Amino acid sequence: MQVVDLLAIGAHPDDVELGCSGAIMRSISQGKKVAVIDLTQGELGTRGSVETRKKEAQNAAVLMGLSERINMEFKDGFFKNDETHQLALIKKIREFQPQIVLCNTKEDRHIDHPKANKLVNHACFLSGLEKIETYDSLGNKQNSWRPKIVLEYIQWMDIQPDIVLDISAQLEAKMNVVKAYKSQFFNPHSSEKETPISSKNFLESVRYRAQNLGRLIGTEAGEGFTSKNLLSTDNLFDLVR
Ligand SMILES: [Zn+2]
Repeated sequence: MQVVDLLAIGAHPDDVELGCSGAIMRSISQGKKVAVIDLTQGELGTRGSVETRKKEAQNAAVLMGLSERINMEFKDGFFKNDETHQLALIKKIREFQPQIVLCNTKEDRHIDHPKANKLVNHACFLSGLEKIETYDSLGNKQNSWRPKIVLEYIQWMDIQPDIVLDISAQLEAKMNVVKAYKSQFFNPHSSEKETPISSKNFLESVRYRAQNLGRLIGTEAGEGFTSKNLLSTDNLFDLVR
């Protein structure tokens, strides 16, 4: 594993695409290195299989230009925010040493999303404590590492963001990486059972949410994030659009 600037974490493969692929691709276009961690294989998903989702996630990783994408293989639906899961994640955070972590939303329809939110926030905090000893895959003791910022992306429910990133130049690419999950989202040729996220309406909501957030900040498209910490700037003029 290599050191990255930004680490995006999702409970299921496709979460980061829906919530923050615009931010990921914009960061990469600005020269940043980005990795993704999927916590589960999405094995409980009604449509598709672990194999198809793995392929779809790999295709999306290539489209986004990720440096790396790994899967923790936690249990879909049943993973816990406990010591075992926190330590497994701390090891990865200490290897990737990201400045910024993006994670699932604080409240959502799927119970794994707020659970992942808490797990990631707690693991990022604990990862900064020196007395928590962890070792990498070669048996070397890891240094503590706390990401500077954890930002929570928005998925199903409309959450009021604390900050919106302009993703006008990434909107079409975002729609394409979402559509890389052919088994999950609207596909008129699929004969699989309808789910809340396989409707045409849901796919269109990804675009109109981005466009609506863009409207609110005076651009074509945006992605919104919340944070448990206050967001700050060293330069008020960075806030001028
Ligand atoms: Zn999900």
